[in-house]
Amino acid sequence: MVHNTFVSNISPEAYPMVGGDGPHSYAKNSIYQEAIVNGSKGMIAAGIRKTLDLKSLRLDTSSTFKIADLGCSTGPNTFIAMQNIIEAIELIKYQDDCECEHDNPSGLEFQVFFNDHSNNDFNTLFKSVPLSQKYFATGVPGSFHGRLFPESSLHVAHTSNALPWLSKIPKEITNSNSPAWNRGHILCSGFEKEVAEAYSAQFKNDIESFLNARAQELVPGGLLLLLTPTIRDGIPMFSTPEGTNFDYLGSCLYDLANMGLIAEEKVDSFNVPMYYPFLGELMGHIKRNKNFSIEIMNTFTHPLVHMVYSAEFWASLSRAAFGGLVGQHFGYQFVDRIFNYYSTKLAENMSSICDGKTQGKIELFVLLRRN
Ligand code: SAH
Repeated sequence: MVHNTFVSNISPEAYPMVGGDGPHSYAKNSIYQEAIVNGSKGMIAAGIRKTLDLKSLRLDTSSTFKIADLGCSTGPNTFIAMQNIIEAIELIKYQDDCECEHDNPSGLEFQVFFNDHSNNDFNTLFKSVPLSQKYFATGVPGSFHGRLFPESSLHVAHTSNALPWLSKIPKEITNSNSPAWNRGHILCSGFEKEVAEAYSAQFKNDIESFLNARAQELVPGGLLLLLTPTIRDGIPMFSTPEGTNFDYLGSCLYDLANMGLIAEEKVDSFNVPMYYPFLGELMGHIKRNKNFSIEIMNTFTHPLVHMVYSAEFWASLSRAAFGGLVGQHFGYQFVDRIFNYYSTKLAENMSSICDGKTQGKIELFVLLRRN
C-alpha cells in the first residue's frame, strides 16, 4: 500500500554542490564520484538487459521513455549516467525489434528529468548538456525525499552519490540538553552512540520516504537504480576515508576558532547533514519496502580505492561538495580561509586518510523493479 505523500518539497535545508564551472566547482572536482558512474556502466547495462521488459512497460502513445536522475548536481556525471542508461535501453529495444522483425529500431524517444534541490546550479547544468544528447532535457527542482513526478509516470529512476544527504540535521544533535548533542564533532563519526542513533533514525525516515515516493512515480515494471556508498558492518565511520575527512574538517574548524578567526559557538552548532549507513542497515531498509522486488544487489570497491590522493585533490573534492554548506553556516567570505587551512593541515596528515582506511567503505549498486 502506497500512501500519497504529495506536499511541496522545496526543502529549506538544501546544500547543493558548488556551482559554475570554475576551479572550485563540482563540475571540475567530481572525478571521485564520476568513477562510480563509469564503474557501474557494465552492471547497469546488464541489469537493464536482464530486468527491463520493454513490451510490458506502460509507454504512452508517443512511446516516450522517461528517465529521472535524482540529485544530479551540475554535471558532467549526470550526463554520463543518463547516456549509459539510454544506450542500454536502445540496445534491448534494437534486439527486441530485430526479433520482431521490425525495421525501425529507434522508435523510442527519451525524456530525461534532471532533479536536484531548487538552489542547485541548473543554469550550468543546462548550458553543459552535451550537444550529442539523444533526449529531451527537463529540470525538476525539489527534494527527492518527497514526490517529484505524477503517479506512474517514470520508467527508470537513477541516483548516484546522493543518498547519504539527509533531509535535515536530527534535532537532538543540536540540542545542548540532549545526550545526542554533537558538540566537538561535525558528523556522526561513531564516537557517541546517541549521536549515531539520531543520524541513523533520520536516514531511515529519509530512505523510506525516498522509496515510497519512487514507488508512486514509477510504472509497474519500472526500474530504480541506486548507487550509494555504505560502510561495512561493524566498522566505525571514523575508520573510513570519509569519516577521517570529516573529522579533519571538524578539527580545522576548531583550530580556526582557537585562532579567533571564527566563533567557537558557530563551530559547535555546525553539523553535516549526511549519514553513511552500514551495508546491512541500508539493505534492511530496502528489503522492508514491499513495493519493489530486489533484482540485483551488488557491492563493489570504489574504482579509485588504490589511488594515492594528494591533499590538494582531497581538499578540492571536499570544497566542491561542502563549500556551499560551510559558506551558508559560516559566511561565504570564510570559505577560502577554511579550505586553505584544511588543505594545509591535510597535507601534513594525508597518510591517515590513505593508510589502511580504505577497507571500511563499500559501494552498493541496487536495482529494484516496481511490482
Ligand atoms: N549524481 C551526481 C551528483 C552527486 S552530488 C554524481 O553522481 O556525481 C549529490 C547531489 O545530490 C547534490 O547535487 C545535492 O544537492 C543532491 N541532493 C542531496 N539531497 C537531495 C534531495 N533531497 N533532493 C534532491 N537532490 C538532493
